[in-house]
Amino acid sequence: MDIVRAETAGFCMGVDLALKRLDALVENEAHGPVLTFGPIIHNPQVLEDYARQGVRVAKSPDEIPAGSQVVIRAHGIPRDTERNLEGRGAEIIDATCPRVKKAQILIGRMAREGRIVLLYGESEHPEVKGLVSYASAGAFVFDSPEELLDFPFESGEKYCLAAQTTQDKTVFKEMIRALQERPGIDVAVLETICDATRERQKEAIAIARAVDFMVVVGGMDSGNTRRLAKVVADEGTPCVHVEIAAELPLDRLRGLSRVGLTAGASTPKKLIDEVQAVLEKL
Ligand code: SF4
Repeated sequence: MDIVRAETAGFCMGVDLALKRLDALVENEAHGPVLTFGPIIHNPQVLEDYARQGVRVAKSPDEIPAGSQVVIRAHGIPRDTERNLEGRGAEIIDATCPRVKKAQILIGRMAREGRIVLLYGESEHPEVKGLVSYASAGAFVFDSPEELLDFPFESGEKYCLAAQTTQDKTVFKEMIRALQERPGIDVAVLETICDATRERQKEAIAIARAVDFMVVVGGMDSGNTRRLAKVVADEGTPCVHVEIAAELPLDRLRGLSRVGLTAGASTPKKLIDEVQAVLEKL
């Protein structure tokens, strides 16, 4: 069996940096209680591994004991939550992805110019909640071009169009064009979309077209992993989404000549390697 493994499979830069910050804390023998504010990534195996090393997950600032070290994950957090955390007497390790941080800073700057932020994203996503907290002149979150075009724009008002870092760039460009075609709207555009998701999807599609079967590795709770499996399935290539090697459907895989392998941005290399090792034995 030939195995075609995606070069982009696994951690994106933001996840990698956040985990390195957490690893450095855990490895320091003199550390006090270490917590993450929310699950550090959407991968149950990684979370179990950290739990075994004593890392706890806090869901609210009230759960942070004084003297502890608390890691803010790659999605970032809202400003008021950050202020609450600062008041807890804990050391805060800000592992917000640099790309998310940049989006927060730019949105804050636009808000100070009095611009209302039009944010393309999922309103319940933690990153979006964080970004909106920087939009002090007001924000509108939407997840389709239709919703944006239905927005009651007012003449004399200033706007800023931005996006959650993992949104689709092509759709965002359509939105920019649609707004530019409307006369009399003062709108500044922030290019906040990160290419990590798009690159993974592009490569997964290219591989899916050249193989008999695709294996996508990653947490069932990981949105970007689920979307990877979906773009592969949309190509019509048979595909399976597994979290670990033991979940591979060996009966379906035996006898295939070319199998593609990719993984979401929150999947550790170790789990991808284990899946590859099982495939190689077939
Ligand atoms: S997908 Fe992009 S913005 Fe989001 S954490 Fe990864 S590198 Fe950062």
